[in-house]
Amino acid sequence: MALIVQKYGGTSVGSIEKIEGVAEKVIATHKQGHDVVVVVSAMSGETNRLIDLARQISEIPNPREYDVLVSTGEQVTIALLSMAIEKLGQAARSYTGHQVHIRTDSAHTKARIMDIDEKRVREDLKAGRIVVVAGFQGVDENGNITTLGRGGSDTTAVALAAALKADECQIYTDVDGVYTTDPRLVPNARRLDRITFEEMLEMASLGSKVLQIRAVEFAGKYGVPLRVLHSTQAGPGTLITYDEEVENMEDAVISGIAFNRDEAELTITGVPDQPGIAYQILGPIGEANIEIDMIIQNIGADGCTDFTFTVHRNDYKKARQILDGIAKELGARQVTGDDTIVKISIVGVGMRSHAGIASTMFGALAKEGINIRMISTSEIKISVVVDEKYLELAVRSLHDVFGLEQKPAA
Ligand code: ASP
Ligand code: MG
Repeated sequence: MALIVQKYGGTSVGSIEKIEGVAEKVIATHKQGHDVVVVVSAMSGETNRLIDLARQISEIPNPREYDVLVSTGEQVTIALLSMAIEKLGQAARSYTGHQVHIRTDSAHTKARIMDIDEKRVREDLKAGRIVVVAGFQGVDENGNITTLGRGGSDTTAVALAAALKADECQIYTDVDGVYTTDPRLVPNARRLDRITFEEMLEMASLGSKVLQIRAVEFAGKYGVPLRVLHSTQAGPGTLITYDEEVENMEDAVISGIAFNRDEAELTITGVPDQPGIAYQILGPIGEANIEIDMIIQNIGADGCTDFTFTVHRNDYKKARQILDGIAKELGARQVTGDDTIVKISIVGVGMRSHAGIASTMFGALAKEGINIRMISTSEIKISVVVDEKYLELAVRSLHDVFGLEQKPAA
């Protein structure tokens, strides 16, 4: 017998019919002899609808009241799911975040879970009940309702799994696992049976939207075994593991290719090559709350140097304005920029033990005549920035060259 936490997202509970389908699945797991705790999101579209209501009153709603409002979507689904489970003859009980003491900090709209008192859940499990918990919400030390940020139900599930020391946390969603890359771009992308936690973290932060990144971080911190599965199709899904050695044995050097369409690049040339210059250029950008992603500084020549960095596309105009100001102050040669670029990254723990990965990557891009504008590397990742018109071609050719495609059934 195992203790399993299952999380169903908005589309999986998007109608009464679907909720009844989830009830059947949950009961089936319970009948296999497992203790089951279920975390649910609001019905699809509901959270957006609530946010829109708030915006009709104020562009910047009071954060405390915003949380009181948007947390209601999940309260609806926990009750409906419990009813559906009981209708099928299985005892169940629903709880809001407050009721099971999902304690968070007070950062409304993006609160972090500090602690969960799992006693009440344990008592129910002992009594043979299925426990249904509202995702996305918690309560701060003053009793205020908080929410965890969009997609936060994943984090609720992982946190509950950690608190209960669950054997597995299963995230049911509308895809059947984590893929080598986005199948909408590369039709022969392959579902991964396993991916290491570190790789998942890179994939999630690079815009692969299967799991909320905070949930992945949380799982890593507590070593929660996490599995992503399709909510209606049967299948093993993708297991996120912590055992790198087992992964390396499978001799897949690269596990996946992630990409980010939301990038823009900025360059300032001809600035004095002297101490403090990076701080003078990048400091004001950071102070304006603009997140900088990649940074390149050239080797100086004739006492001058250049900087190129990337920011989110939404911040491009603002960053450019600031940079123009700095350029004037420093007497820089010029400022240029481009908001039609993308970042593409290959990710794999196997990179640690294999040489020549970068040259394989660059060779594949060269063969397609794709110009690389920037390169950055980490231990398990190589990223390049290219013109957005090459996105599809680049991802496809990299997917090919690293042999990530689906193998025809033998
Ligand atoms: N209902 C919330 C949202 O739409 C939380 C979640 O679905 O995970 O963001
Ligand atoms: Mg969601």
